[in-house]
Amino acid sequence: SPQIVWLRRDLRMKDQPALYAAAQAGPVIPVYILDEERAGDRKLGGAHRWWLHHSLEDLAKSYGRRNAQIVMRRGDSVSVLQGIARETGASAIHANRHYEPWHREAEEDLHDALKDSECELVLHDGNYLLPPGTARTGGGDPYKIYTPFMRAVKELLPPRDELPEPDTISQPSDMPESDDLSDWELLPNKPDWAGGLRDFWTVGEDAAHERLDWWADHVGGYDDGRNLPSEDATSKMSPHLHWGEISPVSIWHRMKDMRSDGWQVYEKELIWRDYAQNVICQFPNYPEESYRDYDEQTLWRNPNRGHVIQSELEAWQQGRTGYPIVDAGMRQLWQTGWMHNRVRMIAASFLIKHLLIDWRHGERWFWDTLVDGDYASNGTNWQWVSGTGVDSNMFPRIMAPLSQSEKFDAAEYIREYVPELADLDDEHIHDPGDEHRPEDYPEKLIRHKEARERALQAYRDSKD
Ligand code: FAD
Repeated sequence: SPQIVWLRRDLRMKDQPALYAAAQAGPVIPVYILDEERAGDRKLGGAHRWWLHHSLEDLAKSYGRRNAQIVMRRGDSVSVLQGIARETGASAIHANRHYEPWHREAEEDLHDALKDSECELVLHDGNYLLPPGTARTGGGDPYKIYTPFMRAVKELLPPRDELPEPDTISQPSDMPESDDLSDWELLPNKPDWAGGLRDFWTVGEDAAHERLDWWADHVGGYDDGRNLPSEDATSKMSPHLHWGEISPVSIWHRMKDMRSDGWQVYEKELIWRDYAQNVICQFPNYPEESYRDYDEQTLWRNPNRGHVIQSELEAWQQGRTGYPIVDAGMRQLWQTGWMHNRVRMIAASFLIKHLLIDWRHGERWFWDTLVDGDYASNGTNWQWVSGTGVDSNMFPRIMAPLSQSEKFDAAEYIREYVPELADLDDEHIHDPGDEHRPEDYPEKLIRHKEARERALQAYRDSKD
């Protein structure tokens, strides 16, 4: 009998446990449902929608090459799946587990909805090195802090074996109806702001594997290169991983025999990704609520309270803070849907500490603009920078954007994304000051020394 594959953030053919199991059991009906209601106010951001459109288009072509098709529907995932199961007489719905609260809730509701039917929900572990919850302390609890979690994961690796893509995909002769992807209007209409994304990315599973081929030759330099935003020295796998166009298990098996320091460091970054899931499994609201309990009313200058601070939030979003490295990062984000990790840390720290704006405003902006915007990874990293999270308190460690920019050699990066500053030499580009600042480049929103003192004072007050 037919087997439904419920596609979510696992838009690939290779190492796709749900698809693999379904294809072995019977004719396959792959279903993608655009279900925005369940995510509540975590609707897809503009960059998400752009990526999703192209990723689904690419996956549909992959199925097409095997004379198969994907059923695309819009609506409540549980009722759509229930309807398709009834209509086709499917005996199972296969899905890879996802840990965002709305995905877990949908899994539970679907399980309940199928209780008295002939169809069962079969969940697989697909998108992480190890299923969240595997690494546990001696006492059997899940880890809260990254470093012991990472050590435990390293002990437990290797991950499961990589699964091949199915050779052939058979489908029932009578397939359920499908929407036309273009009717979903996921792409921006007018204005078309996606030109920068188109230039920067090739979306889809093949592109992810091509990038992996390239990365296998470059990972050796990762330990030195990863902090340099002017260089193409990180894998840029994050959106491919977020959308499940490639699995971390495939990446791991490809790299495992490498002896380089670069791979050792890279493996730890993949474990960060697993760690973030481990955090939201324990604290599902982590991207919404500060974990650490201190007086946030005193700490933040609430942007909703006054026009002036709203304008500072907007200056940050638009890359007009007067700090070149921050502005380059924020403009890279807007143009390409991605930002270099070192610059994400600097830009996040600037919003939280220099501007004393609640981290959740930054988290939301990233969610709306990143192609890799991930509930767990984004929330975990924002709470890490703001010192409100489960890890040690980073708030008093205030990054100095100007010296970070110099230290990590961001001159070329700034020239690329802040064209007003492109003519400045290496000595002045990190901090043009009043003397070298072009007329069309804004003054600093606040001087570093003043911001630092203000942040530390607010921090002390919030703890009193
Ligand atoms: P590489 O350096 O090549 O790393 C390889 C992979 O490891 C990444 O693709 C990613 O999947 C994972 N990874 C690396 N660092 C981290 C990390 N700190 N936390 C979790 N996973 C990591 N990453 C996201 O995938 N989605 C987000 O929404 C996100 N938001 C962030 C917000 C802030 C404030 C900060 C400081 C970091 C955030 N990150 C996020 C983590 C990191 O910046 C990106 O994963 C990385 O820049 C992606 O580029 P890359 O693929 O070239 O990374």
